[in-house]
Amino acid sequence: MSYLAKNYNRKKISFQKGKGSYLYGYNGTKYLDFVQGIAVNCLGHAHPRLVKEINSQSKKLWHVSNAFEIKEGEELARKLVKRTFADYVMFQNSGAEATELSIKLARRYFYSIGKPQKNRILCIKNSFHGRTIAAIYASGSKKMTEGFGPKVAGFDHFNFGDHKTLKKAISNKTAAIMVEPIMGEGGIKLIPNWCLKGLRKFCDKKKILLIIDEIQTGCSRTGKFFAFEHAKIKPDIVPVAKGLAGGYPIGAVLMTKKIAKAVEPGIHGSTFGGQPLQTKIGSIVMDIISKKSFLDEVKKNSNFFISELNILKKKFPKIIKEVRGRGYLIGLQLYKDQSEFIHHLMQNKLLTIRASENVVRILPPLNVKKNEIKQALKIIDKVCSKYK
Ligand SMILES: *Cc1c(COP(=O)(O)O)cnc(C)c1O
Repeated sequence: MSYLAKNYNRKKISFQKGKGSYLYGYNGTKYLDFVQGIAVNCLGHAHPRLVKEINSQSKKLWHVSNAFEIKEGEELARKLVKRTFADYVMFQNSGAEATELSIKLARRYFYSIGKPQKNRILCIKNSFHGRTIAAIYASGSKKMTEGFGPKVAGFDHFNFGDHKTLKKAISNKTAAIMVEPIMGEGGIKLIPNWCLKGLRKFCDKKKILLIIDEIQTGCSRTGKFFAFEHAKIKPDIVPVAKGLAGGYPIGAVLMTKKIAKAVEPGIHGSTFGGQPLQTKIGSIVMDIISKKSFLDEVKKNSNFFISELNILKKKFPKIIKEVRGRGYLIGLQLYKDQSEFIHHLMQNKLLTIRASENVVRILPPLNVKKNEIKQALKIIDKVCSKYK
């Protein structure tokens, strides 16, 4: 009997420990974990450096109120600003909180320049920005909002890749466009570079803001620190979370100076956002994942992985429809429902997770070893061979 309410459809396995790319079940079975908390444990399980830093920081200081200056938070913010488009940072605890704050900042910016009527946020239909009451209506998915009315006002939607619906949905009340550069839950659908460039130009022309949700795609997942860097553009506001502290809860919103001008004491707060333990871990993760040599490895090995998966697609043209994604955010789109396939992979000791459109989502840790990738490829090949 489980006393946990049933909001998840959980697989019937649990783990007693993890190390690097592997998880160990209670019966000793070893699994190759290519879920990693859905892109959260970006350095795998129990990374020695992180274990050391958690131990050391936990003996010094965990939590103080944001009423005081927090050196560890200052340090992580400095690293994020030095490495990215941003001029300022605000810390949160989670992804949904970070997207909510991004929405608040877009509205507050227009309020601060005397245009409070510009407060609507334009999003892609069936995107994913989190599960809070505002974030589900931002996502515009029927499934996520069902039974949670009344509808939260202030969100408009356009269809993925459909410029006509985008132009139709925009109005003089639009404050910002918010998109995921690669739709994660939505099926690893990538917005091409030229399209992101076009979106930036469009926002400039309409004098509105561009919010890029990098919660799943960020923190070096695609081979650049942020996925939008592939398109060489600069957004105005970027929510980050998942991988930022390698498995420890954290969220952040990165912003330009222009947006930060609208931030005054008292307009926002978060009890757990920006705490010493959380931001200390984030700082160490940043040091590791933002190094050029680290990113070069991610690029090289993920290109190998994706090209090998494309070879498997050619070998099994009736099973694999498309290999999607970039870096280590990979989607294997199948012709049929993917649940059984994922189950077979799991029986062969490879953990993956679903996404929309029959996609098997594959998210290795960023420091995955090449022989572990080869091992995963073998398992996928084997499951495809037996799959009807
Ligand atoms: C996971 C995710 C979120 C929500 O993050 P939580 O920490 O679960 O609230 C928001 N946006 C994107 C793109 C995500 O992948």
